[in-house]
Amino acid sequence: MAQRTFSIIKPDAVRKGHTGAILAEIEKAGFKIVSIKKAAISVEQAKGFYYVHKERPFFNDLCAFMSSGPLFLMVLEKDNAIADLRKLMGATNPANAEEGTIRKKFAGSIQENAIHGSDGEDTAAFEIGYWFAGCELI
Ligand code: ATP
Ligand code: MG
Repeated sequence: MAQRTFSIIKPDAVRKGHTGAILAEIEKAGFKIVSIKKAAISVEQAKGFYYVHKERPFFNDLCAFMSSGPLFLMVLEKDNAIADLRKLMGATNPANAEEGTIRKKFAGSIQENAIHGSDGEDTAAFEIGYWFAGCELI
């Protein structure tokens, strides 16, 4: 059954001009782009989005990075979207990412790793609702 997930093309990938190439990988893998918008988010918005990581040592750096430049917020849809996007993204650290994955191709470091994808049904629901109104999901 079609499932929705939430994704971000992170500021590093947008800065390097990889937005189009990453969208092409996503569409080639069978995802429908339900909604997409460019945004420049504040540190506070990033902290709210990544609140599950608030005790982690990299939290402040991560939130500063996410607010360092424009990014693309997206809702994607396909069968098994959540797990399939995580597979297409590759490991968090590009050094460990499999050949052919988006992070292997486009990520520069464990922090500046090009793309975000929800890691479960509950987080997908929270993340979609955090950035999108229902009327934007068409
Ligand atoms: P994302 O949630 O962005 O899809 P992920 O689920 O692969 O990535 P998480 O463990 O949820 O990884 O970490 C969230 C983000 O925090 C990572 O994508 C990365 O940008 C950053 N991050 C994770 N671990 C580290 C680390 N050890 N050092 C610096 N940044 C990190
Ligand atoms: Mg995560």
